[in-house]
Amino acid sequence: MDAPETRAVIAALRADGAEVRFVGGCVRDALLKRPIKDVDIATPDPPERVLALLDDAGIHAIPTGIDHGTVTAVIGKAHYEITTLRVDVESFGRHARIEFTDDWRADASRRDFTMNALSANPEGMVYDPFDGIADLSAGRVRFVGNPEQRIEEDALRLLRYFRFHAHYGRGSGMESRALNACRRMVSKLASLSGERVAGELIRLLQSDDPATVMLIMHGNGILAQILPEAREFGRLRTLVWLERRGLARPEVRPDAIRRLACLLVTDRAGAEILGERLKLSGQQTRRVVAMAAPRLVPDPSMDGPAVRRALRQVGPEEFRDLVLITWAGRRSLTARPDAAETGCWNGLLDASRDWVPVDLPVKGRDLLEMGVPHGPRIGEILAEVDAWWEGRDYRPDRGQCLEKLRSLVS
Ligand code: ATP
Ligand code: MG
Repeated sequence: MDAPETRAVIAALRADGAEVRFVGGCVRDALLKRPIKDVDIATPDPPERVLALLDDAGIHAIPTGIDHGTVTAVIGKAHYEITTLRVDVESFGRHARIEFTDDWRADASRRDFTMNALSANPEGMVYDPFDGIADLSAGRVRFVGNPEQRIEEDALRLLRYFRFHAHYGRGSGMESRALNACRRMVSKLASLSGERVAGELIRLLQSDDPATVMLIMHGNGILAQILPEAREFGRLRTLVWLERRGLARPEVRPDAIRRLACLLVTDRAGAEILGERLKLSGQQTRRVVAMAAPRLVPDPSMDGPAVRRALRQVGPEEFRDLVLITWAGRRSLTARPDAAETGCWNGLLDASRDWVPVDLPVKGRDLLEMGVPHGPRIGEILAEVDAWWEGRDYRPDRGQCLEKLRSLVS
């Protein structure tokens, strides 16, 4: 919020004397001293005026949502969403009919949670119309107004409630009024698009302790609506622990898609349907499928050649994912981890980190030169020599592989 770019935007918006404030997540996160993702700004000026003021200051402005009062200012890599104060006059999910206002409290009232209704002026004075700071420090996610009504207006808020609880809540005790409202309104979730559901789920899964919140969602019938495949809460809890503290391996980072897959009990077709339903990207769906319906299951007793064969088959990233969720699954069922077994699992992770791809040192061209005609026979012989080479742990060099080829040809 102190960055020169931010100050330039603020100065531009204040040029004609308007009262401008920071709003939403940046104020909340600044109070908690957490890293700030984006800086949102609000002003009583209408969007046309905002465009003109930015233009006067030579700042690039994009009319991203003029009807909803949103303008984006761009300085270099920094983007600022500038929103005109507004009230929701009528709500139809995300397509609320709105009116502009100059009333800061009215604008705060349309926001979802007390901790998200904070605003701050550029001098650092914080405005807290609904006791959001007290809620924030108590780790309490509280709706602005009546929870049921706020969810009725926009069902996404039901999922945002759990997402914000995962990031800002403390303890597993949620406000019972809000939780009851979520339980009663659960059928509203059917009106949300897959993308929006997935967006919330993924952000929830990025939190430090998603398993606790997921379990509460399961217990209250929320997951039955949006992620009925989720069953393995203990496995998720253990995976998160491994990712965050258990391993201390720089190459193992918290990963929302791995966490999602870790929760599921389904087969290949089920995982594909889930990817489609949540509109996951092709790559995300492939990872979910790879973990939910594994091509191979790593085992701590695998020997070196078996590990290298597995790595060659699925590649190091998929192998690492499979090791992590298999290990998490086993460990979540054991009271006391066995040190030797832990060493073996770590050995599998070392192997996947250090793996260098190997290529069969002979090619189809070698067979053509030996007089084998074009055709399926080439592929068959290569597959045979590949299996032979792999069976010898990739040790035979090109000369030995050529010799093997010759013997197969003759
Ligand atoms: P994050 O750090 O995850 O971006 P954020 O608080 O900035 O958190 P956004 O989704 O970017 O969250 O929304 C910005 C602000 O807009 C919120 O702080 C909240 O005040 C308001 N808001 C967003 N979505 C809703 C909603 N569905 N209903 C009511 N208010 C909302
Ligand atoms: Mg934001």
